[in-house]
Amino acid sequence: MMNPFFLPVDREELMKKLSARSAPHGGMMPGMMKPPADTSDPQATWRSLRPTDDQPLVIYVHIPFCISRCSFCGFYRNRTDDAAIEEYVKRLLVEIDRVADEGVFTKKPVEVVYFGGGTPTALTADQLRRTVGRLHERFSIAPNCEFTIEGRLFAFDDDRVRACLESGVNRFSFGIQSFETELRRSLGRRLSREDTLARLSLIKEICGEKIALVADLIYGLPGQTQEHWMERNVKTVHRESALDGVDLYSLKVFPGSPISKRVEQEGNWSEEDRLARHAEASDYLAAQGWKQLSTTHWGRNALERNMYNTYAKIGVDMVPFGCGAGGFIGDWSIMQEGDLAKYMESVDAGMKPIGMIMQSPPVRRDSIHFTRMTDLGYFDPSEIPETDFSPIIANWIAAGVWMPRAQGGYRLTRLGEFYQTKLNSLLTGFHMAAHATALDKMKMMAAGIAGKLRG
Ligand code: SF4
Repeated sequence: MMNPFFLPVDREELMKKLSARSAPHGGMMPGMMKPPADTSDPQATWRSLRPTDDQPLVIYVHIPFCISRCSFCGFYRNRTDDAAIEEYVKRLLVEIDRVADEGVFTKKPVEVVYFGGGTPTALTADQLRRTVGRLHERFSIAPNCEFTIEGRLFAFDDDRVRACLESGVNRFSFGIQSFETELRRSLGRRLSREDTLARLSLIKEICGEKIALVADLIYGLPGQTQEHWMERNVKTVHRESALDGVDLYSLKVFPGSPISKRVEQEGNWSEEDRLARHAEASDYLAAQGWKQLSTTHWGRNALERNMYNTYAKIGVDMVPFGCGAGGFIGDWSIMQEGDLAKYMESVDAGMKPIGMIMQSPPVRRDSIHFTRMTDLGYFDPSEIPETDFSPIIANWIAAGVWMPRAQGGYRLTRLGEFYQTKLNSLLTGFHMAAHATALDKMKMMAAGIAGKLRG
């Protein structure tokens, strides 16, 4: 039987394999992939959780309100409404106090705090001060904690910026998506290119070196040319913007999002074009002295550390607050109530507003090691000594997804970076297959035969 972890060396075949949707982890290990057991008493399970000894502690706060729906987004929930936001903030503070009163997560220093959404920058200056301040009062926020407020530049006025600066925020992450005015408008973004750049400069003037300014940009948008992507976006970041960090993402089309219809009608960049633009943008930023902090993220200077993104991908202990927030504690995944009314009812009833809590299958624990390495753009087999990866090393070099590193291990090529998630899944699958029990192997064979019979 062909080794399922071998990669085709023919470029077209390789891209077909790596871009195909397939079962997680190379389709391996039906026994080890069994769904985790759910729990019938989420409150009791929550109360039983404790911080994991060897993991950093992160706090995630979700603000599920947006000024408007952006056309590419699959996360829009509630339109900004002053009265509703104030009611929400009151519940959020109650939830923060309640978890702090339990005293379980207050003793360990918090290394990262992230306000995501939605649009956290839509909170008023007073609401920002109250929520950021409450976390500082009630938890042990580490002196070098990365403390991020995510959001949009539109309506993020000087008062809000100063409220964040004065209450202990040290990073803003803006969803800019594009510096092209027309494209921005088609996405539902209101500021022009000029206003966006001017606003970034002004925020930098107010905050100086105390706050890192970071933004997301998307390539492959309908109506975007490949030339404009480089000239009006990537080069703009370096030459004209006050940004300290940037994330470069290939457009992900969420089914049902407003942009999905445009993509259907107008088509999309080819996979080969996306890969070429990823490589070109990455090479450009590297040549300008930017530091690559993950396969998609770049920092201009030491202000940008990209800790939240790294920790979130690895799945370290993350205490969730707010409607729709997700978190992890040890092996447990938590998803908080996503419906606003139900979230408020749950807080008012004295509960942690958990929508779902479940124990992760073993695959999550294994994949953490691989995610940490591949997200940083390398793979070092010596960090997983219990598994012999030699059967795939040479084949993956020949396929062009990684190459030997001077300090040992292998560095992902631009091709490997582009397909990092898939490679990570294959590495995890390989590792799991190497440690599979005889029963797992029998189940795998049975699943393979059943698949062939069905196919
Ligand atoms: S991209 Fe952000 S601001 Fe826009 S709809 Fe989605 S969550 Fe809201």
